[in-house]
Amino acid sequence: MGTTLKLLELLLRQKLLGQGLKGEPHTPLIVSYAVTRACNLRCLHCHVSAREAMPNELNLQEATAAIDEMHSLGTEAVIFSGGEPLLRKDFVLALAQHCDDLGIIPAMLSNGLLITPHTALQLQEAGIKAIGIPIDSVVPECHDRLRNLPGTFQKAVQAIKTCLEIDLEVVITTMALKDTYSEMPQRLQFLSELGVDEVAVYDLIPVGRGKDVMDNAMTMEQRVNLIRWLQSKQENTEMVFAMSGGLPMYPEIACEMHRSHGTKAKDLLIKEFWIHQGIGCHAGNMYFSLRPNGDIYPCTFLPIKVGNIREQSLTEIWRNSPVLNTLRQRHTLKGKCGTCEYREGCGGCRGRAYACTGDYLETDPVCLRDLMIEEKVSPADIKRFGWCVG
Ligand code: SF4
Ligand code: SF4
Repeated sequence: MGTTLKLLELLLRQKLLGQGLKGEPHTPLIVSYAVTRACNLRCLHCHVSAREAMPNELNLQEATAAIDEMHSLGTEAVIFSGGEPLLRKDFVLALAQHCDDLGIIPAMLSNGLLITPHTALQLQEAGIKAIGIPIDSVVPECHDRLRNLPGTFQKAVQAIKTCLEIDLEVVITTMALKDTYSEMPQRLQFLSELGVDEVAVYDLIPVGRGKDVMDNAMTMEQRVNLIRWLQSKQENTEMVFAMSGGLPMYPEIACEMHRSHGTKAKDLLIKEFWIHQGIGCHAGNMYFSLRPNGDIYPCTFLPIKVGNIREQSLTEIWRNSPVLNTLRQRHTLKGKCGTCEYREGCGGCRGRAYACTGDYLETDPVCLRDLMIEEKVSPADIKRFGWCVG
């Protein structure tokens, strides 16, 4: 089935059943593929510490074969990321086209610096369905400081306009930090004036260079306030939000809030990525990350190598990796997550647990249990999770 048909099916499913992507347990429904470690920026919080290309990045033949195998495993969407994926533009265009031919939805995360009108058209023609572009502040200097290069704000804004002009879907990725979180109303207003209607709000996970700026992560109180505020905002605007960076329970909490307020989130692309399986952290369950050199991680934010596709087939790694199989058994969790009534439906962010404790099965220190109890999200009724963008 081609991508157009797949999107039509998703749209119908959303309209008629209120559902997004759906998959069997242990199907890698979404794959994040970092095509290169090279980047034209050195963002202060980059979770993959992007710099120069790895010496042994996959070639087109290897990457195409990997996508064929993803297809046979049931993958429905591939998100190309990096580094900056457009530093391998021809490679991404060829792979996006291949995904499109197979009926896999291709999307891309980019810092926007290399998105010219010509490139945007090429991406669209290759089948790229949506592009995630970062805006981290409405104060240009503040965005540029985090992105570590003057002028990046203006270039990202230009890239957004360029994509929107040709109706190429844009999802803004935006960091919520301790010292910038209160700016969110102005930020969303600014984005709305640009014509953006889908925003993924990132929390900071201490991975890669993110470790060095953890002092600036939101407090728990700020995080909960932000979730509540985004939901109330969603009731009154055309915008739809996701939260990323280890908060996969956001859709379930937001849906419960909508239900109790008698409102409903809009049917936009980002909602299609509210996945209908109540498993919370999907690392190794319905998601994995392919690294530039062929290594497989359970999640971009959980940098544990579980195999390499040059040494073993992807299918073999996906089915037989001890780490992936352990992640699929929530009774193996330890600490607070191990004894929690939300263990099966939430499971905590395994990436953050690993970053904070050195053990991927330990307690996730950022826990939304109190909020879920307050919002009457029952452990038995958890039906969906939001894909963690990375
Ligand atoms: S303790 Fe918190 S993070 Fe862990 S499973 Fe329970 S609700 Fe989720
Ligand atoms: S480890 Fe799980 S919760 Fe954390 S970012 Fe990855 S998929 Fe999301």
